[in-house]
Amino acid sequence: MSNNVDFLIIGGGAMGSGTALSLAQGGHEVLLLERFEPGHVNGASHGTTRNFNPAYAQPEYLRLLQRANTLWDEISLQANTQLLTRTGLVNHGIVAEQRAMHQVLAGAGFASELLSIPEAQERFTGMKFETEVLHIPAGGQINADAAVSTMQALATGAGATIKHHHQALAIEVIDDELVRVRVRHQDSESTVSAKHLIVTAGAWTHHLLGVHNLPAIHVTEEHPVHFALSSTSAKFPGFNHIVDGRRDIGSRVFGPVYGMHTPGQGIKVGWHGSGQVTDPDHRKHQVIEEQILGLQQYAQRWLPEVDSQVYESVSCTYSNTDDENFILDRLGPITIGAGFSGHGFKFVPAIGEYLAGLALGTRGSEPLFSASSTQRAPLFLERRRALGIS
Ligand SMILES: Cc1cc2nc3c(=O)[nH]c(=O)nc-3n(C[C@H](O)[C@H](O)[C@H](O)COP(=O)(O)OP(=O)(O)OC[C@H]3O[C@@H](n4cnc5c(N)ncnc54)[C@H](O)[C@@H]3O)c2cc1C
Repeated sequence: MSNNVDFLIIGGGAMGSGTALSLAQGGHEVLLLERFEPGHVNGASHGTTRNFNPAYAQPEYLRLLQRANTLWDEISLQANTQLLTRTGLVNHGIVAEQRAMHQVLAGAGFASELLSIPEAQERFTGMKFETEVLHIPAGGQINADAAVSTMQALATGAGATIKHHHQALAIEVIDDELVRVRVRHQDSESTVSAKHLIVTAGAWTHHLLGVHNLPAIHVTEEHPVHFALSSTSAKFPGFNHIVDGRRDIGSRVFGPVYGMHTPGQGIKVGWHGSGQVTDPDHRKHQVIEEQILGLQQYAQRWLPEVDSQVYESVSCTYSNTDDENFILDRLGPITIGAGFSGHGFKFVPAIGEYLAGLALGTRGSEPLFSASSTQRAPLFLERRRALGIS
């Protein structure tokens, strides 16, 4: 392993892998260090499904989405592996929001349609609807495990060096073009010097960079479940149910509901951002019984073709910023990609390109993603407080 590199990336999850791919295919020297083994389940990027939901209103996200929409297909072609399966995606719950989003998507080049309840019922037989539905045909599911391993393989093919079981312990900024990082591998420690450092360490970002001068990141342990299918013929798109707090949805509400079909595992359903705040190095890996019960009651009402008594839970971390907007910024010789707040996977190859551009100095950051905006609106905590989640 070279101890003197141009670009050093800490963190081989989805974001670090996407950045390594973009830099390596751009002809740049890249070393990526990942503390755990390939395919590990300790972070936020494991498992076989993530929703690709284009329903975003802010132009910053729409630009990233349009780019990711293209890049997922390009990378799949390069690797001859389909990473994004376009099953279609539905958003339902608050009609006014869906109608406004229908307009926004048209302007962003994403076709969508508003379906009446009978139309949606007929098309998506595995689900129940009580409001008009926004259907986005370009939506679908990304295979997270395959995406990470594919991007790492393509990056390595383009000349990147990827080292697993290498943990960055400390970062020392020497000047604007020199950072030293102490690294542990098995029982030995060494120092890597880099012209530029990219930190994509997910839930461990504050562990590595400290909390001062960075936006708050609340790490939560999330537990969606896979319910067994009771009918193999039922049709399921990806789905987001924005729960209208004034309506009874048949269970206590712990957040917006998201879900999708995970082939071979059933229907994945979760409350968004409802997990226990945790330290990523001391996770309990413990489900919250009342939230699981809530998901079962939800399934009984809204997912008639699943068996709500047969399920398996998944454990994974969210890195939530106060306003649930990402941190994509550069501070001197360090570029940071963090705070993906449970909705980052759909953007991965575009975020990789964005972070590579920041590191190369070929692009600037945007106020929405600034690492200096430490006073962000406390939307995440307020939503949890309103739902009685501590
Ligand atoms: C249950 C769940 C459901 C989700 N559903 C969706 C969805 O439907 N759609 C969507 O778009 N997004 C979704 N997401 C969000 C998405 O998965 C994340 O935004 C994304 O995976 C974040 O990637 P990351 O690379 O930042 O984090 P991680 O994958 O956690 O990567 C960080 C990496 O850094 C490594 N690391 C940390 N510290 C060090 C160190 N000191 N030295 C070396 N390596 C280090 C870690 O081991 C880890 O591999 C979901 C997330 C979860 C948890």
